[in-house]
Amino acid sequence: MPPAWLAPLACPDAAERGFTGVLHTFSEHDLAHYRQQMARIIAASHDVGLQVQLSPWGLGHVFGGEADSRWVADNPRQCQVLGGTTPVSAACPSNPGFRDFVRAWADAAVDAGADRIFWDEPAWARPETVGLPAHAAACGCASCRAAFAHRFAASMPARLTDEVAAFRRTVLTEFIQELVAHVAARGVASTVCLLPPVGDDGADDAPGVGDWAAIAATPGVDALATAPYWKVFDQPPAQFVGAAAARVRDAAHAHGARAQLWQQGFGFGPDELPDFRTAVRAGRDAGVDELWVWGYEAGGHMSSLGTREPEVVWEAVCDAVTR
Ligand SMILES: [Zn+2]
Repeated sequence: MPPAWLAPLACPDAAERGFTGVLHTFSEHDLAHYRQQMARIIAASHDVGLQVQLSPWGLGHVFGGEADSRWVADNPRQCQVLGGTTPVSAACPSNPGFRDFVRAWADAAVDAGADRIFWDEPAWARPETVGLPAHAAACGCASCRAAFAHRFAASMPARLTDEVAAFRRTVLTEFIQELVAHVAARGVASTVCLLPPVGDDGADDAPGVGDWAAIAATPGVDALATAPYWKVFDQPPAQFVGAAAARVRDAAHAHGARAQLWQQGFGFGPDELPDFRTAVRAGRDAGVDELWVWGYEAGGHMSSLGTREPEVVWEAVCDAVTR
């Protein structure tokens, strides 16, 4: 019999509602203080029949998630340096120390019993967060400067040139491929969730991994995912979700991976449920293999997500997603 505190964390009613899987978050704080408890939570989810994905929640502020990063605070000289001079609170994916840390996290995630590791929206820091212009999106840390010089036989520019953009995509892609291989060697598959294309021209979001095909083709990638949250990105639900769903379907299926689509189930109220249902329909119509929704109970426990009347929204979300 699990302790009383543990049972709700395993999302025990999700299976009864018709869900077949759950994504648990596993932050730096969890890794430091709740490693064995995470394994118990996953076991409890397995006991009620749920498959478990585990995500590096906010790790190094490189992966998605609202959790803060102690690693960043403890390793200021291994973080990104934007525009040539401005250090930011985000680890650099070029940095060997950060790569070691994420591999250690991955080992803990495998040990905890996850069915799939969910590499959530790996991305470079945005210059806007420290008041810099968009063209300052070039990391000038020692690791990036050395890697750029090796690749291009030139000094790393302090601004976003075509070469720097290509370098950023390559670094993130190889970083994720290395992690996928690391957990695959231990017998665990990966889902890689990439930022949805945004902007008027539908171009790739520059901070993220641009090469969907390369990720989908990576051995050990079971599913390619994306999370086109229409309200977050202020986009029309039918077109935005439909386009992202088609893109993830095409990229995944071209390389034998599953297409996993995330729906926004938070940040709105009952009056916007028609938009939510439109988004779900667009995802289904695109023929993705897996439909997931964030988050449990419409994220009603989390003030910053801004869900109004979460109990009402959650009932409708479950009805739309699990039918
Ligand atoms: Zn760097």
